[in-house]
Amino acid sequence: MSETHCRRNTTKFNPTKKNTPNYFMSKAVKEALKGTKNRDGGPFGCVIVKNNVIISLGHNTVLSSKIPVNHAEINAIKKASKKLDSFDLSGCELYSTTEPCPMCFSAIHWARIKTIYFGTTINDVKKLGFNELSIPARIMKKIGSSPVKIISEFSIKECRALLKKWKELPGKKIY
Ligand SMILES: [Zn+2]
Repeated sequence: MSETHCRRNTTKFNPTKKNTPNYFMSKAVKEALKGTKNRDGGPFGCVIVKNNVIISLGHNTVLSSKIPVNHAEINAIKKASKKLDSFDLSGCELYSTTEPCPMCFSAIHWARIKTIYFGTTINDVKKLGFNELSIPARIMKKIGSSPVKIISEFSIKECRALLKKWKELPGKKIY
């Protein structure tokens, strides 16, 4: 696969139409909000879909679990694998409100997930103070020759609004 699979998506956001990529991302945003409301961790949510059906939802639980690798994508992958009773998530799509970090990108690759849709970028959350490794998903794909398709800056307005909401949250924690 080539870099042509890494493209920007500017499709108009329509979360009311069910089982569309926008709808799935809106679910990921809701999941992230649930996590920040519970003070589980950072403002990050993820949804895994197979054949247009949501298999799992996950949000960041680094703070509540005190486990540093409990990112939204990792939590969603673990749940999906359990549900499908397989380590192989071929044919699944993953929707993440923010670009997967290098750890999560690697997990996505290991899980053989077909496509990643993400909203805001690693750079966006780095600006908020998160301790990010600044390696974009497209670079991880390139240097690792991963077949995963990347659709970046998807539902970007809603994902930016999520970060903004979190920024205004009193007593938030950065790690
Ligand atoms: Zn991550």
